[in-house]
Amino acid sequence: MIEWDEIVGHERTTSALRRAVAEGRPHHAYLLLGPAGIGKMTIATLAAASLACTADQAPCGECGGCIKTAAGTHPDVWTEVPGGKSNTITVDQVAEIQRRLSYRRAEGSHRVVLIDGAGTMNDQAQNKLLKTLEEPPPGTVLILCALHPSQLLVTVRSRCQKLPLSPLPQHQLAQWLVDAHDVEPSVAAESARAARGLPGLSLELLDPELLAARRERVETMCLAMSGDRATIDAVVKEVGWDREAGGEALSLLQELLRDAMAAAADAAVAPLHPDADPRAGRMAPLSVRHLAQTIDRVEIAREKLSRNVNAGVLLEDLLLHLSTRNPYP
Ligand SMILES: [Zn+2]
Repeated sequence: MIEWDEIVGHERTTSALRRAVAEGRPHHAYLLLGPAGIGKMTIATLAAASLACTADQAPCGECGGCIKTAAGTHPDVWTEVPGGKSNTITVDQVAEIQRRLSYRRAEGSHRVVLIDGAGTMNDQAQNKLLKTLEEPPPGTVLILCALHPSQLLVTVRSRCQKLPLSPLPQHQLAQWLVDAHDVEPSVAAESARAARGLPGLSLELLDPELLAARRERVETMCLAMSGDRATIDAVVKEVGWDREAGGEALSLLQELLRDAMAAAADAAVAPLHPDADPRAGRMAPLSVRHLAQTIDRVEIAREKLSRNVNAGVLLEDLLLHLSTRNPYP
């Protein structure tokens, strides 16, 4: 099990959480926000382990609480993840959380529920969870992880202490890969750059196959943005109702549009996807205004994603309109 000091970056968030946990007075609900690979679940798991640990320096990694938490067998600490065809946290899962919370705690002073992909809950599931957020059983700590605040109802968000995570500076991430993971400096630099400040992603991208897969996703999205109908259809079909995949595709689209806008405006900003190079012609005919409008539309689509709208359809609308090369009215 890792320790607090081993977390790279996110100092403000971890010190606030660590202090609250050490003082034995955690908030009843946290909402960790940030893109996939930024470290939400790593931090959430560490907070849960610290609450379950019975030693003074939590998490000690050795007591029963720590060992059971790490093994996923602690009766008072568990994680809910999105599942099923639509890859969501369902209303039934929320009901199950409430059922388990209605029992007496097995051991320790806290019960911790981690909800990964909390943004995949539809309104019904969120409204059900809201009851627990409003009146949590004593000693309950809920840790929600989501990509974006707009995925959650305002009522849910306002009941949680929000902990937004920001990507790390590239040099800090590269240095961490060298120091903590024994990565060759040149490989570390490449991986940190491709991961755009996301520690989890930078570790994944050390795997050449995953790095290649990521490059392919970027290539595919560029092709779809250029109006290639077969590619658009393939992207839309792959996403379908999967909200998590839809959220990631919309994020990638938004990043590439930002790069294109920076290039079109001749802004001195480092592109997020330098390999994709939107300057290279495909996106060039689009005006800054059209790009800015589309970025706004992507943001709206991200909000709709939490309203039980088909993610693929949202993506298709955006890509097809982009391919017309006509600005929005
Ligand atoms: Zn312990």
